[in-house]
Amino acid sequence: MSLTLFCADCWADNPAGAERCRRCGAVLALQRAADYVEKLIRALDHPESATPVRSTTILGKIGDPRAIGPSSRLALDAPDPYIAEAAVLVLGNFESERVTVLLRMVQRRGAAPARRAAGAALRARTHVHTPNGQGASDDLDR
Ligand SMILES: [Zn+2]
Repeated sequence: MSLTLFCADCWADNPAGAERCRRCGAVLALQRAADYVEKLIRALDHPESATPVRSTTILGKIGDPRAIGPSSRLALDAPDPYIAEAAVLVLGNFESERVTVLLRMVQRRGAAPARRAAGAALRARTHVHTPNGQGASDDLDR
């Protein structure tokens, strides 16, 4: 099993144990001291769209609940539909009533790629809480 170390400055992935980032040369050992998740969340506002997509993806893999708030905002309001989609994929990693409600909102009024991702995330949920007693989330698509 090989671990990947993401550079907190440019989000390049580096082999585990690397001292410097192979893309930007940042000293990776120093980055580990900083709050990695905080940096990832700040990167969500990066103007270059590849960076928020990358940081949302990493946040989803980490599964840190602090990712939920910023990802929710991006899922609904990101100007780039693919950032919105990446944010929905992050939300899909969290099983909570709040996230289920958010995914439904995105499914109704999000950008097309985000709507599709929200539908898939809702279908993938093992147990969907439906306060009004409706059936599985698949019914929402029909
Ligand atoms: Zn780097």
